[in-house]
Amino acid sequence: MLLIDNVIAVTMDARRSIVESAAIAIEDERISDLDSAAEIHSRYPDAEIVDGAGMIAIPGLIDTHAHADQSLLRGLGDCLHWMPFLDDVVEPWLASRDPADGVLANALSMMEMLRNGTTCFVSPNVDPRDDYAALTDTIDQLGIRAVLGRFTMPAAGPDSVAIAAETVAAHEEVMRRWHGTANGRVAMWFGLMVPRRPGDTDHPAFYAAVADAARDLDVGITYHFCSEFEDAVYIQNNYGVRPAEWSRDNHALGPNVLLINGCWVTPLEISILADTGTHLAHSPVANMKMATGILPVPDVLAGGVNVSLGTDGALNNNSYDMFGEMKAACLLQNATRRSAAALAAETVLEMATIRGARAIGREHDLGSLEAGKLADIVLVDMRRPGTWPMHDVVSNLVFAATGANVHSVFVDGRKVLDAGRVLGMDEDALLEQVRERALANRTLLGLRERSTGDDA
Ligand SMILES: [Zn+2]
Repeated sequence: MLLIDNVIAVTMDARRSIVESAAIAIEDERISDLDSAAEIHSRYPDAEIVDGAGMIAIPGLIDTHAHADQSLLRGLGDCLHWMPFLDDVVEPWLASRDPADGVLANALSMMEMLRNGTTCFVSPNVDPRDDYAALTDTIDQLGIRAVLGRFTMPAAGPDSVAIAAETVAAHEEVMRRWHGTANGRVAMWFGLMVPRRPGDTDHPAFYAAVADAARDLDVGITYHFCSEFEDAVYIQNNYGVRPAEWSRDNHALGPNVLLINGCWVTPLEISILADTGTHLAHSPVANMKMATGILPVPDVLAGGVNVSLGTDGALNNNSYDMFGEMKAACLLQNATRRSAAALAAETVLEMATIRGARAIGREHDLGSLEAGKLADIVLVDMRRPGTWPMHDVVSNLVFAATGANVHSVFVDGRKVLDAGRVLGMDEDALLEQVRERALANRTLLGLRERSTGDDA
């Protein structure tokens, strides 16, 4: 048994309890007890102790929208409208990259996530051409938890029920192979694409087949939804309905569906998402950076929809720091609603933890520090000038801390980050490899950095 001792535990349990001078007992991969340090010491006198003096213990952060394969191109997607962003940067990178570089980009992103206290992420649109053996090995080595949304496209040709079933069955086979690998820390989901702009086609039989397969496999579906002003209008002009109505009519909503962005949802759509139990992943930094739109988070939450948080990616954020995301989520709502209390710090901390767990169907074992849940725990060191004094722990976590305050990270009760260093991989060697491959890919893609800087 392991005790994380002498911490302030921000549990995110149903009562949102904060336990001062707490200790957390870990048995194998789960939290077995959490109470005052004195109580825990008397119950488990022989346990191994990790001293957490001066630290806040929080549940591992859950990044529900993170394109983990984009970090080799960090800084090369700035100042672009979403269409050239996809056409001139993202698509050429997917089409031309060596699968080993895809894995390298994922490794870099995961390393950054762990350093920033993220213990679980959802990568949408994981390319079917990727090397899944190497990717899941890397996840295993780093010790992080991942939901991989395998990009699932309809076959060319007619949208027949038979062809759709065959296409989805082929994906299903691959998903069964990798789902549950890395000691259960890899989940395979469907990453869908729905019509967004002229030239996109729709495939009702295919969406129905994906919905059936997701139900059979007991996995989720994630896709970009009603993100941009143009894609919402495109659906409305072509189908005569709002995007949420279109998705509902195409079997693409439900409790196992995590929609990305939804910036332009209307009150009618909020009620459709609530009625169907569909979740929304909100990425305020990327939404602001790309001038995508502003999700009316307080209205969506008040309407009964679960909203989680995501960083989006190295191309449009340009980091995977959920602390920055939490702060930005509050600032965006406060600024645009002209209210300093539009979105509270505690609410965004919920979005980064327990609501994130709910969004991926894992609320029963992730998202809070409670006996029985998996021991995904982050120790945040607040003994720094920028996070001191601590009148209000949650305020300091959301508005003052950054990922750089993260000291240690445990996933499944195993330490994967210690004193800010990733344990599962040689960081310096990886950074050197990234420098070389980032430059090679930039040259291959003919992309130039938009700001001044050196060659990598
Ligand atoms: Zn995205």
